[in-house]
Amino acid sequence: MTHRVLVIPGDGIGAEIMPHVVRVLESLGLPFAFDYADLGGHAIDKHGTPLPPETLTAARAADAVLLGAVGGPQWDDLPMDQRPEKGLLGMRSGLDLFANLRPALLFEPLADASSLKTELVADLDILIVRELTGGIYFGEPRGVTVDNGGRRGFNTYVYQEREIERIARVAFDLAEKRNGRLTSVDKANVLEVTQLWRDVVREVHADYPGVQLDHLYVDNAAMQLVRQPKQFDVVVTGNMFGDILSDVAAMLTGSLGMLPSASLNAANQGLYEPVHGSAPDIAGKNIANPLATVLSAAMMLRYSLDEAAQADRLEVAVKAVLDDGVRTADIMPAASTTGMRRVGTDEMAAAVIAALA
Ligand code: NAD
Repeated sequence: MTHRVLVIPGDGIGAEIMPHVVRVLESLGLPFAFDYADLGGHAIDKHGTPLPPETLTAARAADAVLLGAVGGPQWDDLPMDQRPEKGLLGMRSGLDLFANLRPALLFEPLADASSLKTELVADLDILIVRELTGGIYFGEPRGVTVDNGGRRGFNTYVYQEREIERIARVAFDLAEKRNGRLTSVDKANVLEVTQLWRDVVREVHADYPGVQLDHLYVDNAAMQLVRQPKQFDVVVTGNMFGDILSDVAAMLTGSLGMLPSASLNAANQGLYEPVHGSAPDIAGKNIANPLATVLSAAMMLRYSLDEAAQADRLEVAVKAVLDDGVRTADIMPAASTTGMRRVGTDEMAAAVIAALA
C-alpha cells in the first residue's frame, strides 16, 4: 500500500533540512508518494496567507504530514492573526490533532549534553502525551475587562468528559505498546476540572488492566522529572501542564536539534515535526542538525504508517551514526572531541543513509 505523505518544508532550516530527510525516507525502499505544500512565512509570501486552503485539503487527503518549521523575523511585525504560527495552529485544529506526543529520548552517546548527571539520563526514554485542542488555552469566556476595581483578566479551564477520555485512550494504548506504565498528571487537590480528569482516567483504566496507572500532582511531577526522570514511561496530561512538562522533559536531553514530535487525530493521521523552530540565526549555512526531523519521520512511520519495524530501523541508524562520533555543531561537546567528526546538515543525513544501508 502506498504511503501518501504531505511534505511541508516551511521556513528557515525547515526548508533546508527537508530535502535531506526525504532522501533518508526514500532510502528505506518503501512505497512512498510524496506531495508538497506551503505553510507559514513562505506561504504568506506566495499566497498571502499562512495556511492556504489547498494545503489543508492536501493534508486531509494524506496519511501523514511531515513539517520542517515555520516562522522568521521578516514576518514578526505582521498582525497576530496573519503570522506564520497561525498557519500551524490552523493545521492542528483543521485536522483535529488533539494528541501531542513528545518523546524525551536520550541517546547514550549524548548523555553529556544534559544538564543532569549522566547516570540519571543515559538511555532515558519517556513519552509525554499532551492534550492539544482543549483546556485553558481554548476555554471560554476569556479576556481582560475593566470595572470599578480596575482591570480583570480571566481564562476558563474546562474539559469535557469525552475530551479526557479520548486522550486517556491514546495514552493507555501507547503505554500498552511500551513498558506498560502510565502516569496521569493533574492538580486535583485544587482544581475541580482536574479532579474530573483524574476520575475519567481512572474509569478508562478499567479497559487496560495490563497497564499500571498512577497519578501525580503537577508540582510533584515537575520535581520528579528532574529528580529521577527514568521512573516514567508514558505521562498523560492536559494542554497547559503538558506544554510546560514536555519542555522540561525535552531539556533533560540537552539538545533541541534531536527532539521530534507528533500530533495525532482520532484516525491516527498525524502532523510530524521537530520541536525546534526555523532557527533563522543558522539558516542557509548547512550546519543545522537534521536528526530531530529524521526522528519525527521515524515517529510518522510508527504511528501513522504502520511501519514500526522501519521506524526501529531508522532510530537504530541514528544511534549508529552517533556511536560513530558523527556530530553536527549543536551536539559537538565543548570539551573532549576525540573520536568525533564535525559534519554539516548534508553529511549527517548522508551518514544516516549509509547506516541504513
Ligand atoms: P528555534 O528553535 O528556531 O532556535 C532556538 C536556538 O536553537 C537557535 O539558536 C537555533 O540556532 C538553535 N537550533 C534550533 N534548531 C536547531 C537545529 N536543528 N540544529 C542546530 N541548532 C538548532 O527557536 P527561536 O529562535 O525561538 O525561533 C525562531 C523562529 O522559529 C521564530 O519565528 C519562531 O516563531 C519559530 N518557531 C517555530 C516553531 C515551529 O515551526 N513549530 C517552533 C518554535 C519556534
